[in-house]
Amino acid sequence: MIKGSCCCGAIQFELSEQPGMMGTCHCSRCRKVGASHLVFVKAESFKLSRGLDKISTFKAEPPYKYDRCFCSVCGTSLGEVLSKGDSFPVAANCLDGDIDIENQFHEFVSEKPSWLKIGDKAKQFEEHPFK
Ligand SMILES: [Zn+2]
Ligand SMILES: [Zn+2]
Repeated sequence: MIKGSCCCGAIQFELSEQPGMMGTCHCSRCRKVGASHLVFVKAESFKLSRGLDKISTFKAEPPYKYDRCFCSVCGTSLGEVLSKGDSFPVAANCLDGDIDIENQFHEFVSEKPSWLKIGDKAKQFEEHPFK
């Protein structure tokens, strides 16, 4: 069982299985909310165990389309944990323990600031890798 939580602990969740993939998004949205490292989880493996009433959502404005969830108490970015999709990204920063996974891609490298140096060999995409 993989556990995750926000900084203040109001929000807690569990993953019944290892996330399928990890990616890093360099778009300005992910950077500003501090959730550039994302793991992709199956909806059926994700269970929110605490804090649904503390989750706030920042609605994306066009051209951005993904709504961002965060803890309304401490501000921790959670990813898209209220998504209705079959799978969705969860901010890897929320995971409590370590998991055996490697970053598999970098997306929106076109929006990456020059001070941020990519330190792994994962594939890089100018924008979305999967269209
Ligand atoms: Zn919190
Ligand atoms: Zn992004």
